Amino acid sequence: MAKPVVLAVDDDREVLAAIERDLRRHFSDRYRILTASSGPEALEALNQLRRRGGSVALLLVDQRMPGMTGIGLLGEARKLYPEAMRVLLTAYADTGAAIAAINEVALHHYLMKPWDPPEERLYPVLEDLLSEWAGRVRPSFDGIRILGSRWSPQSFAAREFLMRNQVPYQWTDIDLDASARDLVASIAGDSPRLPIVLFPDGSSLVAPGNAELAEKAGLQTLATRPFYDLVIVGAGPAGLANAVYGASEGLRTLLIEQHAPGGQAGTSSFIENYLGFPGGLTGADLAQRAVAQARRFGVEMLIGQPASGMRREDPYRIVSLADGHEVSCHALVIAAGMAVRELDLPGIAPLVGTGVFYGAAMSEAVLYRDQDVAIVGGANSAGQCALFLSRYARSVTLLVRAPSLSPRMSRYLVDRIGVTSNIRVMTGVELTGARGERHLQQVALLEHEKGEARSLDVAALFVFIGVAPRTERFAGLVELDTKGFILTGPDLPRGSRTWPLERDPLMFETSVPGVFAAGDVRSGADRRIAAAVGEGSAAIHSVLRYLRTV
Ligand SMILES: Cc1cc2nc3c(=O)[nH]c(=O)nc-3n(C[C@H](O)[C@H](O)[C@H](O)COP(=O)(O)OP(=O)(O)OC[C@H]3O[C@@H](n4cnc5c(N)ncnc54)[C@H](O)[C@@H]3O)c2cc1C
Repeated sequence: MAKPVVLAVDDDREVLAAIERDLRRHFSDRYRILTASSGPEALEALNQLRRRGGSVALLLVDQRMPGMTGIGLLGEARKLYPEAMRVLLTAYADTGAAIAAINEVALHHYLMKPWDPPEERLYPVLEDLLSEWAGRVRPSFDGIRILGSRWSPQSFAAREFLMRNQVPYQWTDIDLDASARDLVASIAGDSPRLPIVLFPDGSSLVAPGNAELAEKAGLQTLATRPFYDLVIVGAGPAGLANAVYGASEGLRTLLIEQHAPGGQAGTSSFIENYLGFPGGLTGADLAQRAVAQARRFGVEMLIGQPASGMRREDPYRIVSLADGHEVSCHALVIAAGMAVRELDLPGIAPLVGTGVFYGAAMSEAVLYRDQDVAIVGGANSAGQCALFLSRYARSVTLLVRAPSLSPRMSRYLVDRIGVTSNIRVMTGVELTGARGERHLQQVALLEHEKGEARSLDVAALFVFIGVAPRTERFAGLVELDTKGFILTGPDLPRGSRTWPLERDPLMFETSVPGVFAAGDVRSGADRRIAAAVGEGSAAIHSVLRYLRTV
């Protein structure tokens, strides 16, 4: 945590140097001493500090300065740092102005020049004021700050991106904080695009995309080499396992992830069926452990970078990234998993990110404390989300099309939901639309048995209506099954038009030699975490066999 600032302002350089010397001597172990020689310079310094999220404990300001008086400066500074202690430095002749300032700018104290000896006339007064400040002010947060609106989808996206990548940040809702609103206006004007992300170095980004945010947050977004033995697209359980096993076999390995490591599993609030963790673990925990393991073996990991296409120039497989860069490799593993299917119903699209969320959106749960929320879907992921949200929300309604939760949801989840008093299960209902001004307020339903339409007031709707493979970017290159999953090994049709070699495709090898697929994205995969980890690990055996041939 950076030290809070004590700012001294005086246009007389000699006096300023003397104040600085005395302040440093007594306070520099606990406070950062800054100086400015004019009102505008001081305001610029305060604005900078605010952008960085720095805190200001005390302003010690000379009254007589050209351009802007001390009282004028304290009035402006108060808007930026209302909690800072305000002290005016005056000559005897200005006592009247100092007294007036007590009301005008809520002055905390005025000091007469000269202040010698400081042990008697300066330090005791400032010590008192500083301890008053320390007693009432929370130390400010020293990391990344997001200023946005709860009802701006991009603000949600930035929060979710940083949270999933385990980058700490402080969130401020400008609808609830007037001083944050002013700060946003000073950076991006009166109708800014949100959010504004402030970094500790004083810089800021307006409504950044994932790649921009990743880069500024210190995550790797550029590959360090043009060529790798193995490139993996997707850092879900399959891609992470593939990377760990590949790198541990000595392969120069690059893992490309468009959002955050962990994939779907990373969004799970509690995984109870993963071998070796009898007490369960969160998806975030699993992802963090796997990332640490991959890094230990020297895997390079690009974050916030989608692979936008790929081509072959034998013996190389070349992957293009959304930022225009390319990387080449001998073996390519597609572990791009699946994405939650989107709802195509009236009113949904404009409310995505402002009450309607695809998947678990864990960064949002706490914002719905003591409110009513709904989940649409009846499989395990919906059940897990219901249990997670029930810790925060007043009520959670599970909207299920089927007549009962079983058999689609595992028994352990059905039982747990059955004994959670604030979860209500509505079976035989279909979601037909959503309504809300600026944010979700109500969902429309159709009850199958009665054929009746009804509505439910909810502040949020979490959507788990199934998943679809993410293969659109690879469709022209590798063969897919009728549902869009990638065909591999023995599942490739015999005499496939695109398979060019005499030998049979290896396990996990797609219709393009040297390009493999593992995990949920693969046709016929068992869509579970352990299965994805198993496939990612086992695919390395085929990758190594293939590499012996190039
Ligand atoms: C909420 C939820 C809870 C779940 N709970 C459980 C559970 O308790 N137990 C269990 O066994 N299973 C559970 N599952 C299922 C399990 O998470 C998946 O089967 C597993 O994550 C699949 O792993 P994967 O690596 O194949 O794909 P994914 O996890 O889908 O990962 C794929 C990754 O690839 C990235 N990607 C996609 N396209 C690109 C591209 N073009 N460029 C760069 N990156 C790309 C994605 O961003 C993603 O991170 C759950 C799923 C969900 C959604």
